[in-house]
Amino acid sequence: MWFVEKHDGTGFMIRGEKIFEKESMQKIEIYSTSLGKMLVLDGKIQLTEKDEKMYHEMLVHVPMLMHPSPEKILIIGGGDGGALREALKHKPKEVKMVEIDKEVVEACRKFIKIDDGAFDDERVEIIYEDGVEFVKNCKEKFDIIIVDGSDPDAVSKPLISREFYANCEKLCDIFVTQSQSPFLQNEHFEAILKNSNVFKQRRIYLSFVPSYPSGMWSFLIAGENLAIDLETIKKRYEERMIKTFHYNPELHVSSFSLPTWLKELIKKYGLLC
Ligand code: SAM
Repeated sequence: MWFVEKHDGTGFMIRGEKIFEKESMQKIEIYSTSLGKMLVLDGKIQLTEKDEKMYHEMLVHVPMLMHPSPEKILIIGGGDGGALREALKHKPKEVKMVEIDKEVVEACRKFIKIDDGAFDDERVEIIYEDGVEFVKNCKEKFDIIIVDGSDPDAVSKPLISREFYANCEKLCDIFVTQSQSPFLQNEHFEAILKNSNVFKQRRIYLSFVPSYPSGMWSFLIAGENLAIDLETIKKRYEERMIKTFHYNPELHVSSFSLPTWLKELIKKYGLLC
């Protein structure tokens, strides 16, 4: 069969067979496809095995390497375990993962297995709760908060609200969130830019993720000191002995080089270019 994900008159098609389906708070589907196992939530592709590292490595290593010593990490969402797997490569003391839907974690552990044992790591605590409520009531501080949420919909839309960003700002040194396709999902992208102005400094960086709408994917990173210096990033990458498939320090720096139309758009919302 062909699975088709449609966006505003465009579509991404992939051939595969459905191997799992469950209705929980989201409709969870898992396919075996020509790009490996694929997770779909409420009709939207969350990952394929072939390109998930192009997303997870950029989501996680960019903020982790911009921090001198990331020891306490909070991941919100990320039920497939890919962000958790990458965060553990920095040997943090503890990682809390707050995921709203336990069924996603269970399905991914059983059928996708990209966590490489991360779910069972003794430094990891998985909390099944709405990330928005968690940060509202949280008294702990984190070096980094990573938001690996799904496309803004009924369950995940509050993850792009001003209230959520304001609560995260109080809790961490560096914050990062996936921020959708700036090419095809302008409405979500601009809502993220608008609502995140609670942070002192914000920047956008890009990665190519072929199975996401248009392939052009963005991330918003925020904090107080977001300078990017290749030598420092390289030194940290080598000292921490990080092994990656897609990420490298040169790509890290170049991912902040944006096309003119995107620079102009983000400047309107007060972001650094
Ligand atoms: N990489 C993916 C993307 O950009 O399409 C995201 C993948 S990850 C599976 C998204 C996860 O966020 C899902 O497991 C979903 O259950 C979780 N999620 C959505 N809303 C949430 C919320 N309010 N609090 C915590 N987790 C949430």
